[in-house]
Amino acid sequence: MNYKTTIGFRKETLIKLLNVIITHENEIIQALYDDFRKPAFEAVLTETYYVISELKDTIKNLHKWAKPKKVFPSILNFPSTDYIYKEPYGKVLIIAPWNYPFQLALCPLISAVAAGNQVVLKPSELTPKTSEIITKIIERTFHNNHVEVIEGGVEITQNLLSQRWDYIFFTGSVPVGKIVAKAAAENLTPVTLELGGKNPCIIDETANLKLAAKRIVWGKFINAGQTCIAPDYILIQKNMKSHFMEFMKEEITKAYGENPKLSPDYARIINQKNWLRLVNMIEEDKVAFGGQTEIENCYIAPTLIDESGTDSLIMKEEIFGPLLPILSYENEAEINGIISKYEKPLALYVFTENHSFAQKIIYKYSFGGGCINDTVVHFANKRLPFGGVGHSGIGAYHGSLSFDTFSHKKGIVKKANWLDLPMRYAPYNDKLKTIKKLLKWL
Ligand code: NAD
Repeated sequence: MNYKTTIGFRKETLIKLLNVIITHENEIIQALYDDFRKPAFEAVLTETYYVISELKDTIKNLHKWAKPKKVFPSILNFPSTDYIYKEPYGKVLIIAPWNYPFQLALCPLISAVAAGNQVVLKPSELTPKTSEIITKIIERTFHNNHVEVIEGGVEITQNLLSQRWDYIFFTGSVPVGKIVAKAAAENLTPVTLELGGKNPCIIDETANLKLAAKRIVWGKFINAGQTCIAPDYILIQKNMKSHFMEFMKEEITKAYGENPKLSPDYARIINQKNWLRLVNMIEEDKVAFGGQTEIENCYIAPTLIDESGTDSLIMKEEIFGPLLPILSYENEAEINGIISKYEKPLALYVFTENHSFAQKIIYKYSFGGGCINDTVVHFANKRLPFGGVGHSGIGAYHGSLSFDTFSHKKGIVKKANWLDLPMRYAPYNDKLKTIKKLLKWL
C-alpha cells in the first residue's frame, strides 16, 4: 500500500487515532500512574491533553501544511512560478524515552503519519504499562504495514538501528543519541535528535523572588524532576540566595505538603537504577532542604542542594531528578565561568526585571529554547520550535514544524514557455560584459 499519496487517507487515520485515544484516555492515565505514579493532573496536562491537542491541530491544518507552497521566483529564471513540494521520507523509525512516555512517542508519530510516512515506533521499555496501551491504541488504529509498534530494550533498538530507514527521530539521552547518529550515518539517514543537558536557571538581583521560586518549584519538581527541560541548577546573585532559599522551601511545602511522600501530586523515580544514580549525587552536608529517600518505592523528596562545586558529581552530568543545586554568583563573569563549563543546554531560564540583562543572556549563550521569568512553559506553544543545539540535539519540532520535520522539501521551478531569454545560452561571445552589468542591478 502506498500511504504517501492521499491526504484524505492520512486525515481519516488521524481522526480514527483521535477517537481511539479519547476512548482509552483513562487507561492511559492509569498506565502512567502504574509505571511511576505520574499524578493524574500531570498525565492529563503533559501527556493526553497535549497529544489530543496536537492531533486536533494536525487534522485541522493538514491540507494547508501538505499543499505545495508558492514562493517568490528568482528574476534569473524569468518567467517562472516556483514552489516547494513536500514529500514523505518513506520509512520512519521513532525511538521514545520513558519520562513523558505517551506524549514523546505519540507526537512525533502523529506528524510522521500526517506527512505521509510509514512508521515503526519503539517506545521505552522502562514504562511497560504505557508501552502496552500505546501498542493497543496503534493496533486498533492502523494497519501494521502503515504504523507498527515494536516493544523492547537495548538489543531490539540496536537491531532496529542496524536496518535502513529514511528518517530516524530519537528522543533520549546524549550517549544513546550518539549511538543513533552513528547508526544513521551508515546509510546517510537524516535524523532528529531530541536530547538533554544541564539547563541553567539564572536569577539576578531585580527578579521577583517569590514568584520565581513558585515557578521554579513547579517546573523543577513536576514529574519528580524527570523532565528534559527542567531547570538543572540555579545561578543566583549572592546576596539574594538566603531569601530565595526560604521562598523555595515555602513553595515546595505549599505544593507537596510537609511530607511529599504522602502527596498524590508527586511522582516517583522511574526505577532503582536511576534512584541510586540520583542518591549518589546527594552530598549530605550540602542538603539545604529535603534529602529524604526510600529505595522501596523509588522515592526522593524535592531536595535543595546548597553551593555544590562544579567539580561535584551533581554538577558533572544532567541530574534528571528532584535535586536542585543552588549556586551563587557575584558578577556576570562568574555566571559565564559556570555556564561555559558545559555543553550547550536544551533550555535556559532567566528571572529578572531587567530587560537588557535578559537580552544579554539570550544573545550570549547558545541553548535550545527557554523562558524569561518562567520555566518549562515554552514547550506548550506549538508555534515555537522545540529542540536542542550542539549536544542537546539536532532539529526541532512542534506544530507545523513537526510536519516539516517528516517531509523532504522539493524545490520546483515551473518555467513558462511564452518567452525564452537568450542570455544564458552558449556561445557566450561578448555576453559576459552585459551579464556583469545586469547582475549588478539584481
Ligand atoms: P535513553 O537514551 O536511555 O533511552 C531512550 C531510548 O533509547 C529508549 O527507547 C531505549 O530503549 C533506547 N536505548 C537505550 N539505550 C540504548 C542503546 N545502548 N542503544 C540503542 N538504544 C538504546 O533515555 P531515557 O532514559 O529514556 O530518557 C532520559 C533522557 O532523555 C534524558 O537525558 C533527557 O534529557 C532526554 N530527553 C530529552 C527530551 C527532548 O525532548 N529533548 C525529552 C525527554 C527526555
